Amino acid sequence: LGDLPFAGVMDAAVHVLVFPWPRQGHINPMLHFATALVDAGVQVTFLHTEHNLRRLAQVPLPPRLRLLSIPDGLPDDHPRSFLELLESMCTTSSATYRALLLSADAPVTCVVADGTMPFAIDIAEELGIPALAFATQSACSYLALLSMPRLVELGESPFPTDDLVCGVPGMEGFLRRRDLPRGLYCAEQGDRDPWMLKLAEVTARSSKACALILNTTASMEQPALAHIASHTSDVFAVGPLHARSRLTASASLWQEDDGCMAWLDGHEDRSVVYVSLGSRAVITQEQFTEFLSGLVATGYAFLWALRPDMVQTTSSALLREAVGAVEGSKAHILEWAPQRDVLRHRAVGCFLTHAGWNSTLECALEGVPMVCWPFFSDQQINSRFVGAVWRTGLDMKGVCERGVVERTVREAMVSDKIRGVAQAMAQQLRLDVAQAGPSSSELERLVRFIRELSI
Ligand code: UDP
Repeated sequence: LGDLPFAGVMDAAVHVLVFPWPRQGHINPMLHFATALVDAGVQVTFLHTEHNLRRLAQVPLPPRLRLLSIPDGLPDDHPRSFLELLESMCTTSSATYRALLLSADAPVTCVVADGTMPFAIDIAEELGIPALAFATQSACSYLALLSMPRLVELGESPFPTDDLVCGVPGMEGFLRRRDLPRGLYCAEQGDRDPWMLKLAEVTARSSKACALILNTTASMEQPALAHIASHTSDVFAVGPLHARSRLTASASLWQEDDGCMAWLDGHEDRSVVYVSLGSRAVITQEQFTEFLSGLVATGYAFLWALRPDMVQTTSSALLREAVGAVEGSKAHILEWAPQRDVLRHRAVGCFLTHAGWNSTLECALEGVPMVCWPFFSDQQINSRFVGAVWRTGLDMKGVCERGVVERTVREAMVSDKIRGVAQAMAQQLRLDVAQAGPSSSELERLVRFIRELSI
């Protein structure tokens, strides 16, 4: 991996506050980013919410990375929907955040805030502190959200149909309306989907920050990056960040169960299907049954990360029982997997995933074929890229039926073509993050940019 040239030299004059949106899929890449800054000799404070800090499993952090937390303004048992959490943080957390930036103790010289939280960028700028936006989604999804006003004008807002869209530059030939970013329960509302409207609004704001950081790489998303560049002052594509991170564990909000590694050791190469739908998606009891039946019908062993809150109205214990009761089931069920280690394991033959951007990158780096069943947000567009652009996997096309699960998983497990393409992409990603590779050069340029801003 490419060590940055200034590694080991500590610059006390540069102090970056890294502030992720408090969700697993945002914390992970921004923590990898924070450790990359620390490795480059920069002093970093990583800002959690108090609610999350209480839940976080212990992660061994580099000594120069300081963790702080602020309240998110909601009681612990609140469901924290996107819009409610954003509203609460904007009204409640902003005061503590402002006080933190004003604190004379180790003054912050630069903020890197999640693009989801415009208030974090606004307050820093108001106080004269340069603020960069970090977008944790794919560049293709970011560009689609930036294009939302144009999509609405063209009447192409995200209804789940197969009609091609022409409002997202560079994606005219293959992007369907069903692939556009949308909320989970609001797809039928089209351009009135409140979740999508808010995300389009915060995305537009983040593009006006003094620079935009994306956890992607030009080898995967050059055309989208080029279009984004025309909307921003500067854009840095520094991914996949987990590929360079020295963190040995992820900062999981669930307890990681690494017992599955020994179970994987007992299996032949590429004989196991790994199943995980990320940290947010919730499926119905019927969908659970379709997934389970389809997986069992493939005849392959499968490792399924089933969060306790994953299936509506059913407890983990009942789900485990249901899996155990199916004749011929060769399953290992756990609540939260050490996902990066699992994907790296020789026994894993394919990944049945919701196509969250972190999962997509983690899988791509290991060259494992994907089967995508996207739910919401950027997952549909990532899934479309996996199936139709990168061709490193298959898209279940929004149909959750046992027959579709069985057919797509079988194909992903046996197709030499898909595996070959996935492995070529993995090789390219390793070159991207190697010394002098494009992502490493971007990271060096970014560190220089942050140092200059901090003077
Ligand atoms: N993850 C994990 N164990 C699991 C499931 C997920 O460590 O059992 C991690 C995964 O490696 C990724 C993150 O949680 O880094 C999920 O992020 P992603 O963007 O894929 O999806 P989201 O959770 O945001 O929908």
